[in-house]
Amino acid sequence: MPEFANAMEIFKLLNKSNCKKCNEKTCLAFAGAVYTGKKHISECPDLPKEIIARYADKKGRGVAGVEDAKAIIEEIRKKISGVNLEDAAKKLKAPFKNGKITIKCLGKDFTVDSKGNIYTDIHVNQWICVPVFNYILKASEMPVFDKWIPFRELEGGKRWQHLFGQRFEKSLKNIADRYTIFFEYVVEIFSGKDIKTHYKADISFVLYPLPKVPVLICYWKAETGFASELNIFFDSSVEEMIGIESVYMIGGGLITMFEKLALRHG
Ligand code: SF4
Repeated sequence: MPEFANAMEIFKLLNKSNCKKCNEKTCLAFAGAVYTGKKHISECPDLPKEIIARYADKKGRGVAGVEDAKAIIEEIRKKISGVNLEDAAKKLKAPFKNGKITIKCLGKDFTVDSKGNIYTDIHVNQWICVPVFNYILKASEMPVFDKWIPFRELEGGKRWQHLFGQRFEKSLKNIADRYTIFFEYVVEIFSGKDIKTHYKADISFVLYPLPKVPVLICYWKAETGFASELNIFFDSSVEEMIGIESVYMIGGGLITMFEKLALRHG
């Protein structure tokens, strides 16, 4: 059966009205649901019959890839030009200078101009761009709630939980199993906060992919009769801060960075 190359291929077919008639909050969420095999393209009632007929046999590959991130970045970058960055900076209490807003991402400065160009001293990880843009677009003044919840308990997380668990939590656990010493130093590398005793984990720390988007990572080492375990928790405000797609992409960003650093320093 032919496959869609990425979720963006599906998104481009939709009318982008975000009308919710498919029971998804946005057309982008619907595209992700089709790509991950949870929905069929015919479930968008606004798609012309000939389009449905043409793509009816195509299925999603099941896992969002880097190509998805690149395509989504281009879509969202266009929206940045319609945003008053100075207002967004005030709401987010972020520095604003020479028409550019600066956001701290894992302790590093990401400066964004009105065209959506990003300036930073570190390599720009494709997965992190979308959360940074969404953080600016939403510019929520809401404080974090200080309530940790796993991805599956987020309102939009149920659909993506399987992918998130397989693609990110499992991969991160493999890194922690294999490079445990490195894993203990991750918190320093990314200017995070060490909170050793959380959930009685052997290693637990909070990272800040964005200033108001803390991520708690807890790792339990293997013991006789028990396999190791790793869980990722988000503040319960996270969907309002950046949206579920960006939460998912933060998982992708973290795993990409951890894999690179573990190979270099592990
Ligand atoms: S019904 Fe179609 S147009 Fe409406 S939100 Fe869903 S995908 Fe978008």
